[in-house]
Amino acid sequence: MANSASSTPVKLEKIGSIALISVNHAPANILSLPLRRELLSCFLQAEGDTDVNAIVITSAVNIFSAGADITEIDSGAAYTAPILPDILDRIDASSTLCVAAINGAAIGGGMELTLACDYRVGGSKAAFQLPEITLGLLPGAGGTQRLPRITGARHALNIILSGKSVSAEFARDIDLLDHLVMDDECFLEDAIAFTQALVRSNAPVRDCRFIGLEKCPEVRGQLELQREAIATAAPDRVVKSRCIDAVEAAYDLALPAGIELEAQLFREALAEPYAQAMRYLFEAERSAKHIPEMDSSVPAMSIEKVAVIGAGSMGRGIATNFSSLGLPTIIVDRDPDAVEKALQHIEKSCGIRLEKGLLDTTTFKRAMDSLVGATTYDAVGDVDLVIEAVFEDLGVKQEVFVELDKHCKQETILATNTSTLNVNAIADFTTRPDKVVGLHFFNPADRMRLLEVIRGKRTSASTLKSVFELARAIGKLPIVVNVCYGFVANRMLEPFAREAFRMILEGACPEQVDRVLTDFGFSMGVVSMYDLVGLDVAYQARSVLSHKEQDPGYHALMDELYALKRYGRKTGLGIYRYDTTGKKHSDPQVAVIATRLASELGIRRREISPQEILERCLFTLINEGAQILEEKIAYRASDCDLIWVNGFGFPNWRGGPLHYANQIGIPVIHRALLKYREQLGDYGRLWYTPSVGLEKLATTNSTFQ
Ligand code: NAD
Repeated sequence: MANSASSTPVKLEKIGSIALISVNHAPANILSLPLRRELLSCFLQAEGDTDVNAIVITSAVNIFSAGADITEIDSGAAYTAPILPDILDRIDASSTLCVAAINGAAIGGGMELTLACDYRVGGSKAAFQLPEITLGLLPGAGGTQRLPRITGARHALNIILSGKSVSAEFARDIDLLDHLVMDDECFLEDAIAFTQALVRSNAPVRDCRFIGLEKCPEVRGQLELQREAIATAAPDRVVKSRCIDAVEAAYDLALPAGIELEAQLFREALAEPYAQAMRYLFEAERSAKHIPEMDSSVPAMSIEKVAVIGAGSMGRGIATNFSSLGLPTIIVDRDPDAVEKALQHIEKSCGIRLEKGLLDTTTFKRAMDSLVGATTYDAVGDVDLVIEAVFEDLGVKQEVFVELDKHCKQETILATNTSTLNVNAIADFTTRPDKVVGLHFFNPADRMRLLEVIRGKRTSASTLKSVFELARAIGKLPIVVNVCYGFVANRMLEPFAREAFRMILEGACPEQVDRVLTDFGFSMGVVSMYDLVGLDVAYQARSVLSHKEQDPGYHALMDELYALKRYGRKTGLGIYRYDTTGKKHSDPQVAVIATRLASELGIRRREISPQEILERCLFTLINEGAQILEEKIAYRASDCDLIWVNGFGFPNWRGGPLHYANQIGIPVIHRALLKYREQLGDYGRLWYTPSVGLEKLATTNSTFQ
């Protein structure tokens, strides 16, 4: 007979002599302080009930538990009793048999909770993951001590060091699951029957304190192997090494001492700037979902069919995102050849992913079946969303939007993938400006997670919410920004790239600039990045700027290379030269051109230090970021950081340019800008004035928020 003892998120009921504790705190059973209190209270109540022979802990939501509440680390609530490690020690040490019935993902602290139970039963969707390493941390609720005691060193190290999820079947194979129930319909009944069978057979409690581990040669070998695999320059080397130390302690120390050491290593990891940056970005992704205009009262349109206009490099990638989800997608181009090539290209690139095992056969087939090509606007009459990705030219965009407005049903959302053009002006080409929005994908559009969502002056909240939700459904990281030249991404990129190319005129060589940036942690130097994007694309993006009038040397080198049709990687020649295998080489010709241009422009060539390269690229970028926030183009500094980390390979372990600025101090940046303003003469006076936004932060001793 079931009797309910609690109407709160943790429910305790009795099924015969089995106490069933179900955690029901949607969406993810995050083990925050109130939930921990409830869980412990229910556990103690069940344990104290003399009629109870065993306790089953399960979840009433789709996942078992997503673990600790990260925000509690900074708020301090994580350290308020009952803390998770103590609850888990209590469960582990209990003389009452305890079974975890794992219906879905058990993540972080959620997985550690299952490890503290004596037995684990999993459903078909059960999965285990300790993702702490991705936040620069190690499991901190006994995971590093209990997991090796259950699975052995090899699997424990792999799970902890990879941060990746393991499936129910794999978990069974490595003894992480004692019983696997493939039929979801009868999962709980089966888990309870399994527990009853354990009780009947007098199965022992498995208190991890009494599981001793022997550090045999094989274990030593595993530990050694993992230590050797840590790259000496990798930013996560310290946390990885702490994880290995913690696992090794499971072999050297008794459980309580091992748990104490784990706690100490956890505290040390927490204090590292690396972990702070990773936690900051984790929080940033959560914050990016909060757009005041998109509250729960705003309706989101259901998007069932999509069209992409323009079958070029962006259109292909954009279409792939939707068709992979099985969403009917039409790719339209006025050039039939472009349509044909795009369909072939998508099939080929999805085929390669299929071969590599990155795509399963069902997804591949679904993607191909959902995709069709067309050359006229007749095809777009019944679509819910159109994404335009034609040439970056306002006149061409106008032609397209006028036609779309004519051919699409009234509710259709019209989006533009423009990198720099004014979304408000594009909206004006239509009779439905409230349904026009910018969706700025990054190249390659099917693989880059970042998506800048540009909210025009008249974009309605419902339009915004509809595309935002769709973006999340296709696995993107949407960041909402407002309209200005280049939005957030390309506007901040502009000074960063301008300084890089200017310094090549002043005497730096392209490799030197790239090396300084990659040494800082960028995945690619900005010079190489421009060669990859294409100097022709960059030329077009600059064409609407009037910077040349103020600065005669503005991108003089890039303009000349463009005139020489050196468009970058795609033409085999750009700032670098590329051989037939695609390998990059320096080209002395570029130094010749840079020297001549410098002389024509009266720029004195000199040796430029790595520090100057870094400061001029980064500080002008940060200066622009401050102004973007001042103008309220971005909602928050962390949105700009997400854009830079996910769009331009800014080192995530530095948290993004504005987080980095907060770390080194805004006054340092302010002073450096003034120094270069002085040192660089007319050029300095033109480009090195602290922006209003930065000036405000510096004078009020504030930080980016
Ligand atoms: P692209 O030159 O590769 O492709 C453009 C396609 O549009 C061509 O196939 C062309 O035939 C087609 N087209 C031109 N006019 C048309 C019309 N009137 N009707 C139908 N089709 C037409 O260009 P791309 O690099 O894919 O860029 C497309 C858009 O995406 C641009 O606005 C660009 O700024 C933006 N963007 C590009 C990148 C990038 O890295 N390439 C990144 C982000 C955004």
